[in-house]
Amino acid sequence: VAELGVPDRKVVTTCAYCGVGCSFEAQMSGDRLVRMVPYKHGKANRGHSCVKGRFAYGYAEHSDRILSPMIREDIAEPWREVSWEEALSFAAGRLRRIQAESGVGAIGGITSSRCTNEETYLVQKMIRQVFGNNNVDTCARVCHSPTGYGLKTTFGTSAGTQDFDSVEECDVAVVIGANPTDGHPVFASRLKKRLREGAKLIVIDPRRIDLVKSPHVAASHHLALTPGTNVAVLTALAHVIVTEGLVDEAFVRERCDWDAFSDWAAFVAGERHSPEATEALTGVPAAEMRAAARLYAGGGNGAIYYGLGVTEHSQGSTTVMAIANLAMATGNIGRPGVGVNPLRGQNNVQGACDMGSFPHELPGYRHVHDDNVRATFEAIWGGTIQDEPGLRIPNMLDAAVDGSFRGLYVQGEDILQSDPNTRHVAAGLAAMDCVIVHDLFLNETANYAHVFLPGSTFLEKDGTFTNAERRINRVRRVMAPKAGLADWEVTQALAGALGADWRYTHPAQVMDEIAATTPSFAGVSYERLEELGSVQWPCNETTPEGSPVMHMDGFVRGKGLFVVTEYVATDERTGPRFPLLLTTGRILSQYNVGAQTRRTGNTVWHEEDVLELHPHDAEQRGVREGGWVRLASRSGETTLRAKITDRVAPGVVYTTFHHPDTQANVVTSEFSDWATNCPEYKVTAVQVSPSNGP
Ligand code: SF4
Repeated sequence: VAELGVPDRKVVTTCAYCGVGCSFEAQMSGDRLVRMVPYKHGKANRGHSCVKGRFAYGYAEHSDRILSPMIREDIAEPWREVSWEEALSFAAGRLRRIQAESGVGAIGGITSSRCTNEETYLVQKMIRQVFGNNNVDTCARVCHSPTGYGLKTTFGTSAGTQDFDSVEECDVAVVIGANPTDGHPVFASRLKKRLREGAKLIVIDPRRIDLVKSPHVAASHHLALTPGTNVAVLTALAHVIVTEGLVDEAFVRERCDWDAFSDWAAFVAGERHSPEATEALTGVPAAEMRAAARLYAGGGNGAIYYGLGVTEHSQGSTTVMAIANLAMATGNIGRPGVGVNPLRGQNNVQGACDMGSFPHELPGYRHVHDDNVRATFEAIWGGTIQDEPGLRIPNMLDAAVDGSFRGLYVQGEDILQSDPNTRHVAAGLAAMDCVIVHDLFLNETANYAHVFLPGSTFLEKDGTFTNAERRINRVRRVMAPKAGLADWEVTQALAGALGADWRYTHPAQVMDEIAATTPSFAGVSYERLEELGSVQWPCNETTPEGSPVMHMDGFVRGKGLFVVTEYVATDERTGPRFPLLLTTGRILSQYNVGAQTRRTGNTVWHEEDVLELHPHDAEQRGVREGGWVRLASRSGETTLRAKITDRVAPGVVYTTFHHPDTQANVVTSEFSDWATNCPEYKVTAVQVSPSNGP
């Protein structure tokens, strides 16, 4: 602080890390950031924060930032720094040439969950209006796309049902496939407070996460299931609820599709779904499953919180629907203290999905098939929107290898590191004629790029992020964009170079357009956000102050829809060569692939990725604590240090993926969710053996 000076102004903005969406005061001295202080009036965090939001902002000033646009004719050539005009003209020329040679569908783009709603809206608008196709996808493809599919199918909209305040009224919390202590620390603190007040906790996770037993908090039940058996466990819980008469029949009759419920109830009541019949498959004692089901159904307000341990499976969408079934069957939906709550990973994954980042949906989760919806956007944008869904990221890469997809714009996403099957991603990128990377740093994907457009941090732009509770928070510019343009200005300039005539002078105008085209945002404006601090969508004429809890009087789709969720074993099988199951997660002080957290000045951020394995498995293999091990799967192999612990069960190993050297995604499986292509990162058959090091 002494070096940076005494703050002379304070600007309230929003953390750019996780989906909790904590508000901070950026305390500034001139144009230097002195410190980030948790904002006591922030509705998501109420003055609290974690180490990432409070201390890990040094990346914004890191010397690795690229501050000049760059181009190159071929990826074998060195980069050449050029003006914004030359870079955009080069990019536009290549994209138009590709379309002239290979058709309008030969290019596409990827939006970022790290960028603002306004920036995301503009990227999908550029692709739909200017590129002329629906080839837009988002990094949510590899994390919460099953949430989108599952909750839209069952409830009618792709969002969590509650606000964070609801946790204060829950009596039984179910945490499944999430580790809030590390992944969503401020929410974890609120949950722990409620548990200390007497609420009960059920944890469903292969690993003994901190919540299972930590100071003053202990789960009533830890269902330590075999990775990949979520659906079987949730169906066993449903079996108990149905066969023991624990269904809230009045709720189901009034609020849900009764025929669909009847089909589902008959299905789960089958003896093959009983806890006793599934105990061997799931690895969870039947008595534990029975007790957990009784507690959730009969213990008062039951709230389910889940994370990527639910979605990143070949049955990710099925698991989300199985969770929704449980909530509807027990009447745990539509009032404070209950609900189905996906804990979103990235700061704006909810917003990126809301803003039409999927190839089949325009903003507000409305299908491109809908003539009236397309007409709404065409009336404001001009031109014609294609009525057929575009390509998802994996389809874009497949088409690139085949030669029919040749140009890609990627904003704020390192698909080479974060997407599955690294070799296939590299092959797809290498086959393209125009890869445009728009980012803060020269990431791994940029190795295959022809154009690099410098990005701006959250400190350098105005806009909004939407957190996991649908809360739209303002992001406020505290310093000028270091490369001269904020991200929304870059997209506008690229669209302009391609012939569009957009005239936005501030992101507030973009939000006004979102409000004019998207019913759930109809009441949102920067004036309203100034007045209320933040607002949770839906925000419109009937709910001008927003909606902390959804589905209170009826589901968005009308009647809640039960879906039969048959367990299907993953194709990722263990065997003599690969006898262990690998699952993955995060640690508190790191964030995803570490692009930001590894570029801070504080050594707390440099914890390395390690492989957790059970003492029994370590002894069998001659692995010692802290020693190097080779982790191999059918997809590839990597080397990392061993941590011997009974946090994981025998037969299960666990690692994080924060360091590019570890390359965890070289190892992970090639399979993906049947409905959304979300990769199955959480189950990979592996072998572990001692190694001499990398
Ligand atoms: Fe940022 Fe999430 Fe930490 Fe809050 S909990 S400070 S949003 S990383």
